[in-house]
Amino acid sequence: MTKYDLIIIGGGPAGITLTKRLAKKMKIAVIRPEDYSLVYCAMPYVIEDLIDKRKCFKKDELITDAGADLIRDLVTSVDFKSKTVLLQSGNSLAYDKLVIASGANPFVPKIEGYDLKGVMGFKTQDDLELMTSYIENGLKKAIVVGAGAIGIELAQALKHKGLDVILVDMASYVLPNLVGPEFSQLAAEQIVKNDIRLVLEAKVEKLKGKDFVEEVHLDTGEVINLGDYKPCTIDDNHTIKGLVVFATGVVPELSFVQGTELQIERQGIVVNERMETNILDVYAVGDCVQFTHFITGQPSAGKLATNAVPMAAVLANNLLGKPATYKGFINGAATKVYDNYVGGTGLTVKAAQNLGFDVVKAYSQATTQFPIMPDKKDLRIKLVADKKTHKIIGGQIFSGEPVTTLVDLITFAIQKGATAHDLVELSYSSQPYQSFYPAGNVIVMAAESIIAQLES
Ligand SMILES: Cc1cc2nc3c(=O)[nH]c(=O)nc-3n(C[C@H](O)[C@H](O)[C@H](O)COP(=O)(O)OP(=O)(O)OC[C@H]3O[C@@H](n4cnc5c(N)ncnc54)[C@H](O)[C@@H]3O)c2cc1C
Repeated sequence: MTKYDLIIIGGGPAGITLTKRLAKKMKIAVIRPEDYSLVYCAMPYVIEDLIDKRKCFKKDELITDAGADLIRDLVTSVDFKSKTVLLQSGNSLAYDKLVIASGANPFVPKIEGYDLKGVMGFKTQDDLELMTSYIENGLKKAIVVGAGAIGIELAQALKHKGLDVILVDMASYVLPNLVGPEFSQLAAEQIVKNDIRLVLEAKVEKLKGKDFVEEVHLDTGEVINLGDYKPCTIDDNHTIKGLVVFATGVVPELSFVQGTELQIERQGIVVNERMETNILDVYAVGDCVQFTHFITGQPSAGKLATNAVPMAAVLANNLLGKPATYKGFINGAATKVYDNYVGGTGLTVKAAQNLGFDVVKAYSQATTQFPIMPDKKDLRIKLVADKKTHKIIGGQIFSGEPVTTLVDLITFAIQKGATAHDLVELSYSSQPYQSFYPAGNVIVMAAESIIAQLES
């Protein structure tokens, strides 16, 4: 049996990051079943025809050129005592150390009809190719369930392809984990203006049909009918009249370690800040782990590539003997809603209040360039601070220009425990094409407003 210094289960962003940092230093095997790991974040833009699908496929050389063996197979079980993994092919491999980086699968609730044709999640190469084929073969209607970033990006892409699109969410506003109601409302206006029907405060209760999904039943009593559309056929096995795509979150992929002594909780494998599991020489990183929120210290959802990669970087350092710790999720993230960019980080007011924080919130508004410049766009920001400590605990941005740099700046303030007073002292830059006038900066203005409230 071949033995490796390190076996990595999973070839997504977490597995690739580890490989790139460690493969020259130890004998590594990366195991993943699929032909290609994808640039998942770009999948909606492949549907939209903005990017050629092949550009989304990561090259095997990312792993092999780094010096690791890439094994296309599925791990079906792990024997932690004998330190071996069993593969679907029947082969076994031995390890000295094991990293589980098996990611997460889209959550499709097991309601009546969830297994009908035309009901799917959106993550894999197969999902991408199936959806593309249906569209190419005349698909006319899609229901996207979940108005988070992925659901909204996908709804726009499907609309762009000429489909009749309905976006459904049980929350009362879109992007509920990213922003508060004000910026959500601005995003919703864009969605509705572009002829996507938005149905909020509605839960999909059951799906009905014979072979394929024909009716979507909501708990509001509404039944969305797909049966009236012309059938769309790819081959003998794939005929539908409409698509129902669940973008309602993900569940860690841990089927191959169920029932073992590995400690697993709701959000995934429990790890400490060095990414160690409860089993010696077994580590876990990425979407398959349960970790805590940076601010609250409580277990938190954090299924983002921008969390998976830093976790893997921390583990790589530890495995190289350079002690490092992962401090927790802050979950800075962003999306694009037609011509607008929306981002958020830390806690929303609602999330903070649910956790018992007494919060102060403030808004500021400026333009992305000097207001006298022809192409300036609006830029709005909301900051959230803890009334007791004055520390910044969240921030959100809505703008006509990309927002990730501002999101990251607020994230950094949170990471460093900055208060509203610290942000008032932010030393900023200004230039007609790239910022508001030197007279003001959105972060400073919002921080000043927080202080004014704290002092009143
Ligand atoms: C449509 C979409 C858009 C997204 N947009 C963003 C975004 O804009 N920003 C962002 O930060 N994040 C985004 N994400 C989330 C991001 O893709 C994930 O957080 C990230 O891929 C997690 O990386 P990972 O390596 O932990 O897991 P994954 O990327 O899921 O990789 C897991 C790997 O493990 C393999 N595996 C699983 N089980 C086994 C087994 N038994 N044996 C062998 N191999 C196994 C899988 O096949 C896969 O190769 C998006 C996700 C999707 C689906």
